[in-house]
Amino acid sequence: MNIHEYQAAEIFARYGIPTNGGQVAITPREAQTIAETLGGTVVVKAQVHIGGRGKAGGIKLAATPDEARDVATRILGMDIRGHQVNRVLVAPAARIASETYLGVTLDRAARQIVLIASAAGGVEIEEVAHTNPDAIIRTPIDPVRGLLHYQATDVAFALGIPAEQVAGFVSIATNLVRAYLAEDATLAEINPLARTETGEWLAVDTKMVLDDNALFRHREDEELRDMAEENAVELDAKASGISFVQLGGTIGCVVNGAGLAMATMDAVKLAGGEPANFLDVGGGAKADQVAKALGFILTDPQVRVILFNIFGGITRGDEVAKGLIAGLAGMPRPVPIVVRLAGTNAEEGRAILATASVQAAETMTEAATMAVAAANQGRGNG
Ligand code: GDP
Ligand code: MN
Repeated sequence: MNIHEYQAAEIFARYGIPTNGGQVAITPREAQTIAETLGGTVVVKAQVHIGGRGKAGGIKLAATPDEARDVATRILGMDIRGHQVNRVLVAPAARIASETYLGVTLDRAARQIVLIASAAGGVEIEEVAHTNPDAIIRTPIDPVRGLLHYQATDVAFALGIPAEQVAGFVSIATNLVRAYLAEDATLAEINPLARTETGEWLAVDTKMVLDDNALFRHREDEELRDMAEENAVELDAKASGISFVQLGGTIGCVVNGAGLAMATMDAVKLAGGEPANFLDVGGGAKADQVAKALGFILTDPQVRVILFNIFGGITRGDEVAKGLIAGLAGMPRPVPIVVRLAGTNAEEGRAILATASVQAAETMTEAATMAVAAANQGRGNG
């Protein structure tokens, strides 16, 4: 679950990380009032679940409350790469002398938590990784012991931090790791972690992603969810008990079971296609679930073909076939459908589908190949 910068800042502050405070406004007038209360120059920052706000014009300094109001007028309602700005953070402007990157995340390939630091702060870390990989310092973290003092000190020296500022850095890095672990995050990031002109450390931009699978341990975190930032179709699907994640390819996939869904996506990729989604209708899916799944997939205009890959265990092939027939009747637009049914009641299912306009496949590989062919045909370039 993504949360906003100001929410991450509140959490980091609880762990003793220096942040620049401020308050959230949803109207220009509120922004003005906050600026008045703060006094001095403020920074007005778009709160959206996407980075690169500065470059997009979503972050502006304002010297007076009037200016804060004007700047907020421009930023509120702005669209930043598909994210509409509904609120701004108004905070005291920092006087930045230098910018460092500091983040904690899970390195899946290395199977461990890592602290990532770079003297090339302010820039997106993916960009640094690409253009200047040597500028990135990676430190493995023991999930039980956290970041050890010597590790944090090593990083400080590798970053070339002056001796009198090392203790402050060590404290921030250690606390960032504590926050990451205790809050069950998958990302805790400060970019930039600034040093001010007066030599203090300040977390200027904070970001946190919470692990959905651990939310049951942090019920209060549900309040941090911004519904406006969530994918409406994915939420609908979730309410229906369907795991659905949109991905951007052209081949819609309806599958039962998370493992089979992953395998199906691999098969599609191997056959040269791009899956439009991950979808797990769940075990024992009934006809109406399947029809709904079809509907969710077709909200995506990129989808050119739908691949059904069902392995019947508790799920019954005939139920899936009935759902498919019901879904076909209500399809908002026609797309080719490839079906591979195996397992419980697959025979009955195939019989139900015999007269429907679907392409039947025997194996997963065959189904993926047929789906890719249909998607390419739909593209109209042979
Ligand atoms: P992002 O573009 O979404 O990563 O948003 P950031 O909060 O990181 O802001 C982008 C850049 O704007 C930072 O790297 C800073 O250089 C600058 N910036 C942000 N806040 C302040 C501030 O309070 N004072 C000054 N002088 N610059 C700021
Ligand atoms: Mn940033």
